Amino acid sequence: MNIKDNLHTFLEKIPSQIKLVAVSKTHSPEMILQAYETGFRDFGENKVQELTAKYEVLPNDIRWHFIGHLQRNKVKYLASFVHLIHGVDSLRLLRTINKEAAKNNRRIDCLLQMHIAREETKFGMDYAEICQLLESDAYQGFENVRICGLMGMATFTANMQQVEKEFKELKNSFEKLKNSYFAGKAEFKELSMGMSNDYQTAISCGSTMLRVGSLIFGARN
Ligand SMILES: *Cc1c(COP(=O)(O)O)cnc(C)c1O
Repeated sequence: MNIKDNLHTFLEKIPSQIKLVAVSKTHSPEMILQAYETGFRDFGENKVQELTAKYEVLPNDIRWHFIGHLQRNKVKYLASFVHLIHGVDSLRLLRTINKEAAKNNRRIDCLLQMHIAREETKFGMDYAEICQLLESDAYQGFENVRICGLMGMATFTANMQQVEKEFKELKNSFEKLKNSYFAGKAEFKELSMGMSNDYQTAISCGSTMLRVGSLIFGARN
């Protein structure tokens, strides 16, 4: 398993304007460093403790993406350094992120997670809930967070037509929200969708940011 080669090969396969988050969960800091040495800087983790442990031992110009389900009581551990939080799924969580960002004198970029999969186990809001959040008085007052787009996970299935349907729904919601709530706001631009098994479909459906782990770091145990 040569991480540098895997990363290089993958980056060559995707259009250059598409951003890649290398999902390094369960893999060691040494493996992350191998990717880092190629000049690559964006890494994704889904557990707060694992992320902070890696943050402490790795170079501080890494852009850390939090891609998991974030509990409100853990936001404080990430707030001083996290680059982008992909999975914001409630107003309450956004309020906490705003508060912790303010304590650190910064603004934290976030993506709203939309539920598109058939599986009930996956997190995220539906379209109406996202509208409700964006229309709330509370949200209007949040000065230390910035909503930069949407994130979603398709159903885990080999049926790529199903996956395509879900990604298209996400893209469609993204465009509608952009027109309704972010007109003239350039920051609402990211559509985080696509993993190792469905990244090609995600790209064809308008993804701007892929979250890919196994194709770069190998299978997880
Ligand atoms: C683990 C994970 C990924 C990457 O999955 P791979 O199949 O290894 O590419 C992407 N997104 C989220 C939210 C994840 O938890």
